[in-house]
Amino acid sequence: MCMAEVAQSEKGESNSELALECDGCGAHVDKLFQRNLCKTCLVQSFRGVVQVIDYYRAGGGGSEPAPHS
Ligand SMILES: [Zn+2]
Repeated sequence: MCMAEVAQSEKGESNSELALECDGCGAHVDKLFQRNLCKTCLVQSFRGVVQVIDYYRAGGGGSEPAPHS
């Protein structure tokens, strides 16, 4: 008899873990990343950061060290 395993698997089906809401698109997901963003929004934010970096690279400000986040 292994009642403990049954109880654990039932507990694992609880959707209480899905209460996270993305700050970007408002989607309810089971996991949030930086800045309370879902994976989709996080990827989009990264693309935005890359564009900013490209802007500064093109601007010739490369001698300045990267700011601390
Ligand atoms: Zn999102």
